[in-house]
Amino acid sequence: MTADLIRTADVVVVGAGTVGAMALWHLSRETGTRIVGIEQYGRAHGRGSFAGESRLFRVAYKEGDVYVPLLREARRLWHELQDEADRSLFLPVGALSIGAPDQPEMQATLATIASHDLPHRVLDQHDLREAFPPHAPRESDIGILDTQGGGLRPEASVLGALDLAERAGVDMLYHCPVLDIEVQRGGVVVRTAQGAISAGVVVIAAGSWASELVPALAELVSVRQLALTWFMPRDIRAYEPERFPVFMRDIGAAHVFGAPTLDGYSVKVSPGHDGMAQGRRVADLPTTLSSRQLRLLGLRIREFFPDMNPEPVRFSSHHDAYTADRVPIIDRSADGRVVTVTGLSGHGFKFAPVFGRLVRDLVVDGRSADLPPSFSLAEHLARRAG
Ligand SMILES: Cc1cc2nc3c(=O)[nH]c(=O)nc-3n(C[C@H](O)[C@H](O)[C@H](O)COP(=O)(O)OP(=O)(O)OC[C@H]3O[C@@H](n4cnc5c(N)ncnc54)[C@H](O)[C@@H]3O)c2cc1C
Repeated sequence: MTADLIRTADVVVVGAGTVGAMALWHLSRETGTRIVGIEQYGRAHGRGSFAGESRLFRVAYKEGDVYVPLLREARRLWHELQDEADRSLFLPVGALSIGAPDQPEMQATLATIASHDLPHRVLDQHDLREAFPPHAPRESDIGILDTQGGGLRPEASVLGALDLAERAGVDMLYHCPVLDIEVQRGGVVVRTAQGAISAGVVVIAAGSWASELVPALAELVSVRQLALTWFMPRDIRAYEPERFPVFMRDIGAAHVFGAPTLDGYSVKVSPGHDGMAQGRRVADLPTTLSSRQLRLLGLRIREFFPDMNPEPVRFSSHHDAYTADRVPIIDRSADGRVVTVTGLSGHGFKFAPVFGRLVRDLVVDGRSADLPPSFSLAEHLARRAG
């Protein structure tokens, strides 16, 4: 083995961000398993893809039927995590989609609702104005309220999962970048800035940085900048969580999403990755937004919320790892030594506790009946080739 060995473990999880923290939570329930978690930054830091105050959760998932069973299980697990961690993580405010009935996103949402018989409400333009006055629907717009949807508190979720994992005996190394992973005949050696760790299995949950650790992933994953912006409305009370669901609005190709006010003075209304930068590495992306970008965003926001001051009062630049078709990668190597999860493509937070459980299943059981085959590396490569 190597001279600078600082620990041995059964499982090492690289990255204690969104999925890493959830995987550590699930794995920590395996009695007698020695688990080490390694994070390049601090505990629930502000540089991962989970940063930014809130995330949208929905079950009526227009992106495909394959995700709905996972989202039902994720919803159950969000409540379990919230109870165990004793933190408020899931805001049961509903998720509202607004658009014209022939907008593809609206049609796909209704199709998912029909095929899974999901609880919901359809609102016409009149109902929308009455129930949710801040939205300014166009004459043709309808609303679809996914009543099982809501908001998530991402930083508190990561911290809550890490608290539980550490309390159950997981050994965490923070401020400890992993430099290299080497699969050997009898196991895996994970080299870090503080020395090497020898393990049976390594989980690579490094998000946007995954392809820097495993260069072969660069073929399948790129990184994208996503912006978050917060605006000040005339009357903040109309945007409080008691009366304002998380939302998505689509007009043609224009898309915005947002959440109720959580700070009492501003409302998150954001364009996501539209018009944002793309690159190979996180370091390739800008870390802020230009004045021009902010001005254009403000003008766009006014189309959706006429009472909003068009100058963002807070803004931040983030990133996520994207696959070409936005299907995540969750897979285990043939020898079982390496489990990889990345490419959550701007949609992964809502799934975090269930993806963490899929990772646990791959590590402990060697398989998971709930893992869609489309998430595998082989299927990603096949889709790319053909
Ligand atoms: C602005 C924005 C808005 C979003 N909105 C939503 C939403 O509303 N709903 C939704 O479901 N999803 C949303 N997403 C997507 C979701 O947040 C991401 O898909 C998810 O957080 C990605 O999780 P991850 O575990 O892959 O990455 P991360 O959470 O970034 O975790 C990766 C971790 O690995 C660590 N790491 C990396 N390399 C190393 C190394 N070499 N050594 C040690 N540690 C390392 C990192 O520091 C980090 O902590 C949004 C994303 C963004 C950016």
